[in-house]
Amino acid sequence: MAEQVKADIKWADLGFEYIKTDYRFISYFKDGSWDKGELIEDEYLRIHEGSTAFHYGQECFEGMKAFSAKDGRVLLFRPDCNAERMKNSCEAILMPPYPVEKFVEAVKKVVKANERFVPPYGSGASLYIRPYMIGVGPNLGVKPSKEYIFSIFVTPVGPYFKGGLRPCDMVTTEYDRAAPKGTGSAKVGGNYAASLRPHKIAVNDGFIDCIYLDPLSKRNIEEVGAANFFGITPDNRFVTPDSPSILPGITKRSLTYLAENRLGMKVEERDISIEEIDRFSEAGACGTAAVVTPIGSITHNGKTTRFYGNGKEVGPITKKLYELLTGIQNGDIEPPEGWIVEVD
Ligand SMILES: *Cc1c(COP(=O)(O)O)cnc(C)c1O
Repeated sequence: MAEQVKADIKWADLGFEYIKTDYRFISYFKDGSWDKGELIEDEYLRIHEGSTAFHYGQECFEGMKAFSAKDGRVLLFRPDCNAERMKNSCEAILMPPYPVEKFVEAVKKVVKANERFVPPYGSGASLYIRPYMIGVGPNLGVKPSKEYIFSIFVTPVGPYFKGGLRPCDMVTTEYDRAAPKGTGSAKVGGNYAASLRPHKIAVNDGFIDCIYLDPLSKRNIEEVGAANFFGITPDNRFVTPDSPSILPGITKRSLTYLAENRLGMKVEERDISIEEIDRFSEAGACGTAAVVTPIGSITHNGKTTRFYGNGKEVGPITKKLYELLTGIQNGDIEPPEGWIVEVD
C-alpha cells in the first residue's frame, strides 16, 4: 500500500462522530443492473424528492471496521460476513443485493483511498466503515424503487461508549424495536428510528442504554440498544439470546466461536428470561461499535441486578473476550481461518 501521511487527528480523543474523509465509493442501480461504481470526493448526495428511502424507509446499512496492525498493514474483520448480511437486509425490503465479492472489493478500495485516516496501531481507535443502500428516483406509491444507490463512507472513531472498558448501567424498556415477524433481523433504517425514543428515555433516567425484551412475550432479553447481549455463568457458560427478531451480530457470532474454541467455554444460544439474569456472574453488550462492553447492572421494573464486582468492575471472562477479539482484529493474535482480510 502506498504510504500516505497520516491525517492530523488526535486519535486517542476520538469519539463516535462523523469526520469527513477524502473518498467514498458510490454505485448506481438502474435498468436492472449495478454500474461498476467509483470513488468520489463529494460527501453530499443529490437525490430525487420521491426517493423511497425518504418516505418508506427503503434503506439498509452495515457497520464494520478497519484496523492498523503493528507492522502497518491495514486489516478488515470478516468483511464477507457484512456483505452476506447486507444481502439478507436487501432481500427483506426488496432491494437488489450488491454482489458479495464486489462489496468486499469496494470496501478495500475505499479504505485504501482513505488510508491516512486509518488510526495507528495502539491508539485504541479504528476506521469505521459504513456501507448503505437507498431506494432513489421519482416515486410516489408504497412500492419498491426501480433505482438504487449503494455507497460506502468511512470515518475514524474511538470507543462507542466513552471511557473504554468500563461497566455500563442498563435498563429494560417497555418499547419494542422490532415485531415478531418484522424486520428485526435486518439492518434496515426503520428499526433505528423506532429505537431513538426508548434510548433517550433510558439516558434521561441516568442509564447508558436500554435493553429490549422480545416483542411477543416481553420476557426474554433481545438486544442492548444497537448491540447484542451475552451473559456469563459462574460455571463457565457463554449464554446469548436466540430469537428471530434480533440482529445477527458478527461480533456475537465471533465471540461465541472464541468462547467455545479458545476459552473452552460451553456456549448456549437460547431464550434468556429477564427473571434469570441474577444467575449471571458477568454480562455484556457486543457489536462492531460497542466491541465488548461490560454491563454493570440491569434495572427491570425498579429492581436492579448487579454483575461482577457489584457492577463496578470488569469481569475476567469479559476482559479475556475483549482482549482476544481486539487482539485478532489488530493482528496480534492468530485469527481463525478467514477472519482477517488485508487491504493491499
Ligand atoms: C449492528 C447491530 C448489532 C451488532 O452487529 P455486529 O455485526 O456485531 O456489529 C447488534 N444489534 C443491532 C440492533 C445492530 O444494529
